[in-house]
Amino acid sequence: MKKAKKILKDVFGYDEFRFKQESIIESILNRKNVVAIMPTGSGKSLCYQIPALIFEGLTIVVSPLISLMKDQVIQLQENGIKAAYLNSSLPPSEYQNHINLILENKIKLLYAAPETLLLEKTINILQQVQVDLIAIDEAHCISEWGHDFRPEYRKLNHFRDYFPEVTTIALTATATPIVQQDIQHNLSVPDSELFISSFDRNNLFLEILPKNDPLSQTVEFIERFKNQSGLIYCFSRKQVDSLSADLRDLGYSVLPYHAGLSDYERKFHQEAFVKDDVNIIVATIAFGMGINKPDVRFVLHHDLPKNIESYYQQIGRAGRDGIDSYCQLLFSYGDIVKIKYFLKEKTETEKMKELKLLNAMIDFCETEECRRIPLLKYFGEEYLEQNCHKCDNCLNQGKKKQDITIEAQKFLSCVKRTGEMFGSNHVIKVLMGSKDKNVLNRNHQNLSTYGIGKDLSRKQWSFLNRQFLRKGICELGDYGVIKLNAKSWEILKGKETLFGTLIEEKSKIEVIESKEYDLDLFEILRKMRKEIADKANLPPYVVFTDRTLIDLSFYYPQTKDSLFLMNGLAEQKIKKYGTQLLDVLTEYCRKNHKEDLSYKKNVRKKRVSKSKRLMEVAEKFKQGISVEKLCELYQVKPNTIIQHLINYKKNGNSLKGKITINLSKQEVQRIEDSFLQLGTERLKPIFDNFDGNYSYDILRAIQFNML
Ligand code: ADP
Ligand code: ZN
Repeated sequence: MKKAKKILKDVFGYDEFRFKQESIIESILNRKNVVAIMPTGSGKSLCYQIPALIFEGLTIVVSPLISLMKDQVIQLQENGIKAAYLNSSLPPSEYQNHINLILENKIKLLYAAPETLLLEKTINILQQVQVDLIAIDEAHCISEWGHDFRPEYRKLNHFRDYFPEVTTIALTATATPIVQQDIQHNLSVPDSELFISSFDRNNLFLEILPKNDPLSQTVEFIERFKNQSGLIYCFSRKQVDSLSADLRDLGYSVLPYHAGLSDYERKFHQEAFVKDDVNIIVATIAFGMGINKPDVRFVLHHDLPKNIESYYQQIGRAGRDGIDSYCQLLFSYGDIVKIKYFLKEKTETEKMKELKLLNAMIDFCETEECRRIPLLKYFGEEYLEQNCHKCDNCLNQGKKKQDITIEAQKFLSCVKRTGEMFGSNHVIKVLMGSKDKNVLNRNHQNLSTYGIGKDLSRKQWSFLNRQFLRKGICELGDYGVIKLNAKSWEILKGKETLFGTLIEEKSKIEVIESKEYDLDLFEILRKMRKEIADKANLPPYVVFTDRTLIDLSFYYPQTKDSLFLMNGLAEQKIKKYGTQLLDVLTEYCRKNHKEDLSYKKNVRKKRVSKSKRLMEVAEKFKQGISVEKLCELYQVKPNTIIQHLINYKKNGNSLKGKITINLSKQEVQRIEDSFLQLGTERLKPIFDNFDGNYSYDILRAIQFNML
């Protein structure tokens, strides 16, 4: 485990394990089979990637989609890990190249789809090398009950027959118990240890608002997320097209995505999103699978999802990086009617099943308790916190309610007078005294309730209507018609008092613009990240995550050592981008008088990191690597390396080997004499003694050789 922790920091640049990562890795290292069920963003990939780096042989990762494989492979490569994928889409020469790398043991992780793995030629090749671990990602694909069943996943057992002794880990983010059981039954991973973590995504803010003016509500919501990525889900393709056109006309950076677009368009739009060329995707449920983008900051449901599972899955695409992210749903009874309408085409049993799921979704929308309670209950989990502080209901606790009996009486008698034959829109029009032709044609201007609700706005009435339905003082019939029930009469007769709110529901969730980090610097770094990413044809999040940029804009690191303390920065990335980062950071900090605060991150860690570096440099020097080479390797000046070596010796370690010095023997002798005369502690007297003819680097090297 020590090694695992070291890899976590040195290779991935993370300080701590998250959730169950540590125990899962420990089990795998003990060669135990594992089934891991953890929500999106909990860091499942590291659970097999770290063991893969510790094991001698190959780790095979089964993945259903080429886009997922590619994404993982480039992320690993960016961290300096040897990984590759096998797929029929590869050009033959590249395919062969990957095969050769496998045979030469030059790859630690191999990604492939089940159908590729089941090919005889693949099995032949893999049998020639040492396979230490099989990781089955997106393991829910094995279940017909899941949302993306893939028959080939069922055949993985056949593949595993060829590698019966190899440790296997199956991973999924699917929370439904039936799918979990299916994974355990069908994957025949014998004696596996089961790890299930809570499905609460505690960095997601959840909010539900009545939908009354969807376009302005959408605009109001997305306005909070300048330059950030987000998704808007709509019910139909038509809705996607019109909303994305509207938003584009208003100047937002959006693209549509649905099954009606050509393959090319879909691919192009998805890529634009992943590369931060476009901020927002307006989509049907067709969008999402295969998107690994960790920095999606918001998900807006413009329309009601059909069930909790799709809702959870879609909001789950926000905030995979663990940073606070925002989910809003615009709820309208009209949407329920729409969904029900489409159910009419289904068989009776299907209809019943889907209605039940829809009702659970509606209950979730209507609940006045913490949203996390029904959400997690749906997945069989009990949420025990008193207040989650991240849902509208919890944030709204303690808000004053007022007597709304009169309003209810007005509304209900209007429902009665219009014959319990109309939806809320019509009832409200009559209440407000509208001259709409639908009102006049029916002579509803002559009703005693016509115009008695003028004192409130249309929005207020629809908000009230929502409360009335939720409180059960009236009901929704077919086609969205409002019907009275026994409770209605209690209210109408004045036997019961009703409490609620008259004030329009407005979003209560403020996007907390973190004042903690330097937003200007963040912006500069974000632009720089985009430039680097475009040049390398990578998604920006692969170059640096948002977390890395936030760390940089908080701690103002200005040396290589400080960079090592930042989240997500390790050896490979610092080697590749360190100089560029430091150029930007030092210039910004000089202009704005910012000092390097990275020591605050964790004083202890800094020491560890420094001494770790010391050991590493010394080890390499012992192996005969020259100072010049070490400078190249760590991208530092000779002075730093030699100082490291000197410190190492001064710490009492033995370090044989001398630094080669390009001077004549006589000259070296004279300098050594001077050291003996003037002392070996300080360099300046020696430097002055020779009138600056010998550089500090040379003097330091000689000093080292004399120790
Ligand atoms: P999942 O597959 O469970 O959705 P990922 O493996 O994609 O999650 O990880 C989500 C994000 O969290 C990634 O950006 C990953 O690099 C990051 N991450 C994973 N483990 C850690 C950790 N221990 N500390 C910090 N960040 C982590
Ligand atoms: Zn809550």
